Amino acid sequence: MYDFIVIGGGPAGMMAAGRAGSRGKKVVLLEKKDQLGKKLLICASGRCNVTNTASLDLFIKAYGKGGPFLRAALQTFDNEKLCSFLLSYGIETVVENKGRVFPKSQKADSVLKALETYMHDHKVTIQTNSHVLRLNSKSNRVSGVETNSGSIFGNNILIATGGRSYPATGSAGDGYKLASSVGHTICPPYPAIIAFETEETWVKSLQGTPMKNVHITAYQSGKKIAEQFGEALFTHYGVSGPSILDMSKRIVGCLPDGSVQIRIDLKPKHTPEELDSILLDQIKRHGSKTMKACLTFFIPEKLAPIFMNLCNIEPQKKASQITAPERKRIVKLLKGLPLTFTRHRPIEEAIVTAGGIRLDEIDAKTMQSKLCEGVYFAGEVLDIDGPTGGFNLQAAFSSGYLAGDSIE
Ligand SMILES: Cc1cc2nc3c(=O)[nH]c(=O)nc-3n(C[C@H](O)[C@H](O)[C@H](O)COP(=O)(O)OP(=O)(O)OC[C@H]3O[C@@H](n4cnc5c(N)ncnc54)[C@H](O)[C@@H]3O)c2cc1C
Repeated sequence: MYDFIVIGGGPAGMMAAGRAGSRGKKVVLLEKKDQLGKKLLICASGRCNVTNTASLDLFIKAYGKGGPFLRAALQTFDNEKLCSFLLSYGIETVVENKGRVFPKSQKADSVLKALETYMHDHKVTIQTNSHVLRLNSKSNRVSGVETNSGSIFGNNILIATGGRSYPATGSAGDGYKLASSVGHTICPPYPAIIAFETEETWVKSLQGTPMKNVHITAYQSGKKIAEQFGEALFTHYGVSGPSILDMSKRIVGCLPDGSVQIRIDLKPKHTPEELDSILLDQIKRHGSKTMKACLTFFIPEKLAPIFMNLCNIEPQKKASQITAPERKRIVKLLKGLPLTFTRHRPIEEAIVTAGGIRLDEIDAKTMQSKLCEGVYFAGEVLDIDGPTGGFNLQAAFSSGYLAGDSIE
């Protein structure tokens, strides 16, 4: 008989298990994969952006409507406490741009090892290859779980099974079924932090080409719906990259009403007039070159032939032969490369799942279910998601810690 059965060996579950163990509770952590923290290991391409230096208020704002719910969890275990926790396991952290915090080692597995040691230090029993199939409950009180290898009994159960993205890491939406079996409502999951497919097929030839320091604006039916400055990346299906991912949640929300028009200002620091005079200067200096070659002063080489095509200029035309109307078309395109987003990539490819267990059915001060005594929730399974920058891991750590801190 356990005091606490933790379902899911991701950051939320491991933190909860370790915290409850440190309070002297008898804890078992059940992980369906053969290894803990598979998703944690791929965070930020294995570098693991563990948290952000943002203030509590900015954290709460970053989670949108889910923010106020996380206040108690963040107050109990915030970004500073997380960094102190990691340091206590020998992991120094460094701050990169936009307040992103990484382990100094730049290795996600150092974070995983810290969590494993934390659980080991506090005598948490860990069972990998242990797939939880059902919750056992009676009269709105949970009593244990059924796994692929038998029953496990416990007074408190944490559902920390993650969202629905990257199912190969183990998070395939199991938590939604477990939660609804004890009466919880699931806000339909959808992808947040996701790339998009474009109507324009020419993007394929630019696969892997980045566009740096660009300003991206998204419109629907002529109305601006989102904008972002930063980097985008062409892919074989459309566009991805940090800026696109950061504005993706808003775009995903609009796509059911039709396609979304994108304008990428490739030279946001310059007005059209300034760009025209820089272009003229380039033409004067390199008049004998093709205009396509001249364009590489402004845009990636691979994009130049597509640019010529979109401007309706013969690709081999010499720079010196470019007419004023053609120059105008080039400047217009530099200030607004048009793309049309037709759909988002599947939820399986999302960095984070939006939607999940409805928050007003959970006590935000303890993470306990208001519907079934002894059931707790933490991490991405909740109807909470944040932007890139370490906000999603911090949400998992904070909510997991609070659950582990709260069980009786
Ligand atoms: C490519 C990628 C990069 C990312 N990078 C970052 C980043 O740098 N910074 C950041 O803040 N966020 C990042 N995220 C998001 C972050 O990884 C997640 O928000 C976070 O891992 C959620 O933690 P969790 O513990 O709630 O769920 P998960 O990490 O998904 O863990 C859930 C665990 O539960 C297990 N499980 C599921 N069902 C069962 C079951 N029935 N029985 C037993 N076990 C079960 C799963 O196998 C899994 O191990 C990234 C996500 C992706 C996909």
